Amino acid sequence: MKRTSIQFLLTTILLISAVLLAAGGERPGKTTTGPGSEKILAGQSKIVGFHIDMNIAQFRGEYLKERLKFLADLGYNTIVWEVENNIRWETCPECVASDAFTKEEFKDVLAYSRKLGLEPIPLLQTIGHCEYVLKNEKYKRLAELPERIDQYCPRHPEVVPFLRKWADEYLEVFGNIRYFHLGADEAYALGQCPRCRAYAEEHSLSELYVGHINAVSQSLADKGIRPIIWGDMILHHPEALDILSRKIMIFDWLYDRYYGRGEVHVWGQGNRGRDDLDAVTRERFGAYLYPLGDEPGRDADPFYTADFLEARGFDVVICPSSSCYGDSVYAPRPFFHMRNTYDSFRKGLSGTRKGAVLTSWTVHLFPWELQETSMDLPQFIVHHPDGDLAAYEKSYVREHFGVDDRRFFVAAGLLAKRGLFNYAADLGFFKDARPAPKDYVVNRLDELAKDGTLEKETKACETRLEEYRQGLAALREYSKVVKKGQKELEFWDLAARNLVNRAEAGRILLKDRMEGNHDEIRAEAGRILTRLRAIRQETEAAYLTRIKPRRTKEIMQWMYDSVETALEKVAGWTGGDAKKGKAKEKTRA
Ligand SMILES: [Zn+2]
Repeated sequence: MKRTSIQFLLTTILLISAVLLAAGGERPGKTTTGPGSEKILAGQSKIVGFHIDMNIAQFRGEYLKERLKFLADLGYNTIVWEVENNIRWETCPECVASDAFTKEEFKDVLAYSRKLGLEPIPLLQTIGHCEYVLKNEKYKRLAELPERIDQYCPRHPEVVPFLRKWADEYLEVFGNIRYFHLGADEAYALGQCPRCRAYAEEHSLSELYVGHINAVSQSLADKGIRPIIWGDMILHHPEALDILSRKIMIFDWLYDRYYGRGEVHVWGQGNRGRDDLDAVTRERFGAYLYPLGDEPGRDADPFYTADFLEARGFDVVICPSSSCYGDSVYAPRPFFHMRNTYDSFRKGLSGTRKGAVLTSWTVHLFPWELQETSMDLPQFIVHHPDGDLAAYEKSYVREHFGVDDRRFFVAAGLLAKRGLFNYAADLGFFKDARPAPKDYVVNRLDELAKDGTLEKETKACETRLEEYRQGLAALREYSKVVKKGQKELEFWDLAARNLVNRAEAGRILLKDRMEGNHDEIRAEAGRILTRLRAIRQETEAAYLTRIKPRRTKEIMQWMYDSVETALEKVAGWTGGDAKKGKAKEKTRA
């Protein structure tokens, strides 16, 4: 056969395959029916995305590149860039982080990601979560309420022009893009300033929100770029949905939904069982909650919001999470996130949905390396559309550790529950990235004593400590049987040691409150403090290779400082003794 004929034949085969795949993948093993009885349709037509949150984790460029390669190899085709203040923006120079990327540096990262086939979607906060802007004095006038820094006033005459200007600057950095994410979630102060209240009384909260989103997105839509918003606010206030531009895509996020949960989330109300759904909710969403009727025994569909929005003419992307509220700062809840990610990607990659994006909120601080149990899932779903989570776990341990032993998930699961002083809200830091008060833990202990919950907390602490110790022991056992993947296990090992140390710290701090300070408690607090400092150093070294130095320092402060202060006090290591015993003890025990 002549060379041109071979080329022709190959091209024909490729074209036929492409057509088959586009038609729903008639290749054996490429199709399936999910809980919604719809086929999984991967390939280029759907967004298979990962969300990079740099609000808290200000990643180093080299590390980002390494992880982008990793994500591309896993079959992702899109990155949502929540860059916040990590580029040297001229529109808002006051909010720029001191070690932010120059535009050239970041363009280099973007060029690399494009080369890997990862389409960038920039994200600019346009109503809620603008803490990094409003915490600067100069911008306080743009706030919805003077005492809050988390929301712009959508009716302030300067807000929309400011955001449009900033969006233009984004375009200059991101170049040719098809989509632009406007954030717009969790605007909890909506309609509370006098100007907005008056508007909402005359129109509605929904119209206030929709009017703002339409205004901010217009200039993008005019340029042929599709704006995106998170779905929570419009699902909470859907009355004016008809006037929201259909050019806007909706990212329908929810991190605790999966089939078989028995409850569904109603925005503005929380999780609801079938008997707790009010008349308005049933009227509005009933056809999507119970597409086959609400006969007892049929569960409501947790993805009803996506079907509702699609029926109203919107393009929808489903967003699960590999790191979200409810996690500790040291380790995620792997199975919890896997269920959410599995069902969400199956929903997003089937039917007329536009895809799915895995979110990864870095305020929970633990590294991406501990989120791979969720990050690997989209690829598995595409290649094994009939595979369930048990099959996925088998494939995960085979791929990562070269064995068929699933006990990795037992070990990781033992580290999943958060406990006293090991999660963001219990350490006094939040998404606004302000320093946690050094005496936060001491004050929390005062509160617990006042509430009379010291004993209850001690019991919970003992239970967590036992679980974390078992988890650590299980990891050590597991690392003896694996054929590869030691590096991944080392990340889990460090998490386990941090969790054990934190539970020990919590227990001794509570004991000191209950028994009063004495020699035995002082000595034990000193030993725990010594181990804490050594683990802190080790953790800091691990973060420094990933996160920029200034932010690494802040992360260490959030994770350790207030616990260290409380332990120093109990151990009597104040003043000249404060550095006593620093990092002498071997921690890998
Ligand atoms: Zn307002």
